[in-house]
Amino acid sequence: MSDTQTNPLGVHALVWAGDTSAASVERAVRETAAVGFDLLEFSLHDLDNLDVPATKVLLEDAGLQVACSRGLAFDADVSSDDPAVVARGADLLAASLAATVGLGGKVFTGALYSALGKYPRPLTAAGRANAVAVIKDLATQAASDDVTLGLEICNRYETNVVNTARDALRLADDIGADNVKIHLDTYHMNIEEDDLVRPVLEVGDRLGYVHIGENHRGHLGSGHLDLTGFFHALGDIDYRGPITFESFSSAVVAEGLSNDLAVWRDLWTDGRELAEHACVYLTTLLAVSRPARV
Ligand code: MN
Repeated sequence: MSDTQTNPLGVHALVWAGDTSAASVERAVRETAAVGFDLLEFSLHDLDNLDVPATKVLLEDAGLQVACSRGLAFDADVSSDDPAVVARGADLLAASLAATVGLGGKVFTGALYSALGKYPRPLTAAGRANAVAVIKDLATQAASDDVTLGLEICNRYETNVVNTARDALRLADDIGADNVKIHLDTYHMNIEEDDLVRPVLEVGDRLGYVHIGENHRGHLGSGHLDLTGFFHALGDIDYRGPITFESFSSAVVAEGLSNDLAVWRDLWTDGRELAEHACVYLTTLLAVSRPARV
């Protein structure tokens, strides 16, 4: 099964720390490598405090790949009808792409097209057109930086722009750039999709990034998600990209992001134990994800 081991396995930095102080970043890098993950994902919600050059050196020394993610804010939202709000969102995306490049990352993903939170009304046609135009421009810059952009599909309580794989494929079609890929997250899929298999097959070779989260975003295997079926579907489309474990608990609080994601309770207290468990669990699911050759 050696050919199944090519997907980089990642972990979200919020398993380790809610902020990006030097000490927190150093710990996140050290723990990620110690547990045996290949990749560390940073949310760029705390971008102003992140020492990008120093973090790049730490990641390289630890032999880790890096990915970056973020959502936008209601006052800096590229899916808004208000040009000033859209412009602030575009600036935030440009700064975040630059940070991704500075860290040595090849993937910048998340709700790049939207604020992260509950919208009080549906997306407008003008707002959608604004998001398409901004991400089209961002994709041009990203292509020259050798970066792939991900459109992470989030549930209805976190965005009104795309909630399903089909929505995201349409948005990507309208953006029309080869380096804009689809990002599936099992936590969101559980809320919005028919099952965890059909969207994977629908997205196929346009899948660029994966988040694995349980239905409650706690310990993998403690919830009710059909992760075996999901991994079989990844095997069926021969997905070779990153697979990153994402979990949140009020044991680790990120100012802003934790509230945007409605992280109100302690689903775990020991990030190291959580991550070790997840690494073994993901490695096992991946190893058995392709059809047996008998
Ligand atoms: Mn996610």
